[in-house]
Amino acid sequence: MMKLKYFLCFSASILFVFTSAVFAQTPKKLKTIIVDAGHGGTDYGAVGQYENSLRSNEKDVTLAISLKLVEELKKKLPDVNTIPTRTSDIYQSPTEKAKIANQNNGDLFICIHADSGPLKTGKRQTGSHTVTRYKITYVGKGKKKKKVSTPYQTVEPTYEYYKMPLSRSGTSVWIFAAHKTSDKLKAIMKDEGNDEADFELEAGSDSTQTGIDFSTPEGRAIAQVYAKRYQEKSDRLATIINEEVEKTSRPALGVSQRQKGIWVLQATNMPAVLIETGFINNPEDEAYLNDPKGQQELAETIAAAIIRYKNQMEGQHGNGNTSSSK
Ligand SMILES: [Zn+2]
Repeated sequence: MMKLKYFLCFSASILFVFTSAVFAQTPKKLKTIIVDAGHGGTDYGAVGQYENSLRSNEKDVTLAISLKLVEELKKKLPDVNTIPTRTSDIYQSPTEKAKIANQNNGDLFICIHADSGPLKTGKRQTGSHTVTRYKITYVGKGKKKKKVSTPYQTVEPTYEYYKMPLSRSGTSVWIFAAHKTSDKLKAIMKDEGNDEADFELEAGSDSTQTGIDFSTPEGRAIAQVYAKRYQEKSDRLATIINEEVEKTSRPALGVSQRQKGIWVLQATNMPAVLIETGFINNPEDEAYLNDPKGQQELAETIAAAIIRYKNQMEGQHGNGNTSSSK
């Protein structure tokens, strides 16, 4: 009990000292954005499977949208280094994707995906057909009892089975859920001594920040502050993206957190969001995701959100948007 008390007290003071330094920081410039086109190569992601679907692959629509987003960001934020994880149909493991983001010292990690879900099987009558059935009767009694099957013709319906499309449509935004054992902490701690980390101490405070040893208890406490701050920033950007989607004619499905399943969000030492741009197995969404105009609208929507986020982070309020930050 004493030990725990001591630890809590100790952690609290470390956090206090560190967060004081964080609050005193000059706003950090957003310098590098990593745009990840989800899946690729042999990893197709979700595939259009419902009846009369375009049979499109998630890996192709994520690439098309990502390329347009990169172009949009380069045009509107020329001072920011925007780096795509891939520009062609190649396979990358989640580890490789995270590595590209971390090695380029990204300040933001934007993952572009498309949603799907289990499809129900429908059944419809397409006609009828004649079949031969047998009527079984018995004749005789006792030992002489005999089974007799009499054929007869009957007309039965012919059915065909098909995959039904999803009725759900729209764009959702996902962030990682920070908890004490999350991989986000591991990613931060692995990047030890990274002076491009998201927290820059006040100008003139020397390079003390580069010497954080994350293997120590106080280092771990600091890593938790990083994870918390990354989560707050990810949540802020995700919220803005959802607000920008609300301005379009498509459903904005909100911001959600996942503890598991989005490994790449947790393996990156920076704020990270994953955008499920639309449902590949919903007919309107699939058409939109494959239409260059739809892809462009998504790219512009996401870029507008990133610009608003950047302005908020850097303490500017330009761009005509006055959004309430949570
Ligand atoms: Zn995906």
